[in-house]
Amino acid sequence: MDFIAELQALHVVKSVQKPRCSVHFLLQSLPEADREALLAAFDNKQIRHTDLATLLQSRGFNVSAMTVSRHRNRSQSNGCRCPL
Ligand SMILES: [Zn+2]
Repeated sequence: MDFIAELQALHVVKSVQKPRCSVHFLLQSLPEADREALLAAFDNKQIRHTDLATLLQSRGFNVSAMTVSRHRNRSQSNGCRCPL
């Protein structure tokens, strides 16, 4: 690889290395209607993390209540690093 190509490769690595939690990948894998319904459930603070995680697990998605909690708190210091 030449010098310029190596430098350009650094840009690419940097942009994809931001960590994403399993909720983020789950959302990306869903059809749009499902994704919006799930996002609405995430935004509804009256729904408990455990209830949401249990429902997702019953559908075969490997998402823990802890991960649901962290994704919901992603704007806070104890949350995941997914983009808002
Ligand atoms: Zn997340």
